[in-house]
Amino acid sequence: MIIAIDGPAAAGKGTLARRIADALGYAHLDTGALYRAVGLGVRRAGQDPADAAAALAAAQTLDPAGLTDPALREEETGKAASIVSAHPAVRAALLDFQREFAQSPPHGAAGAVIEGRDIGTVVCPDADVKLFIEADLEVRAARRLAELQQQDPSLRLDEVRAEMAERDQRDRNRADSPLRPAPDAHLLDTTDLDIDGAFLAAMKVIGGHEE
Ligand code: C5P
Repeated sequence: MIIAIDGPAAAGKGTLARRIADALGYAHLDTGALYRAVGLGVRRAGQDPADAAAALAAAQTLDPAGLTDPALREEETGKAASIVSAHPAVRAALLDFQREFAQSPPHGAAGAVIEGRDIGTVVCPDADVKLFIEADLEVRAARRLAELQQQDPSLRLDEVRAEMAERDQRDRNRADSPLRPAPDAHLLDTTDLDIDGAFLAAMKVIGGHEE
């Protein structure tokens, strides 16, 4: 069983994906963390994320087991991730790992919940259930600010909103694997939902599929 969850930044994909995976006993993969690790690798090497060769080198040396660095969650890393992720060679380098995870989830789990931008369209076009999670920019920016302020209380809403809008634009408009719902995805707008509401709505879709 493969559940694909896509959507823009801070729409609630991550929390929702983890919660669904816990409830069903499935493995969970945050593919954004892979792209963030590539972005961070490039930053730390003092190179430019727009440099395709530097980004590919970072992707090729990525260890998907070691994605625990707190710097992965920084906004600057998110920005670098969205720049490196536009290089087709970087996306190609990460594809096998993601597909393998979906086909043979670790620890013998009976299914996988995989979240990202192109899971339903490119990574797992045959996923059993596809969810596309959306929310208004204003609400997403406020959620992300609350998260980021735990590390840096000086951050402002307008900065976070602008950064996020720019990142979404880049993700939606790139030529390779842009952010968009698969034709058979279920759209779930979490603007007016808390996590419990989003979880119930998602489980209804998943339950409907299983019947
Ligand atoms: O989900 P998260 O915000 O951590 O992702 C960081 C960036 O990685 C995104 O803005 C996007 O550019 C890229 N990404 C991607 N494809 C995925 C997951 C993330 O291009 N499947």
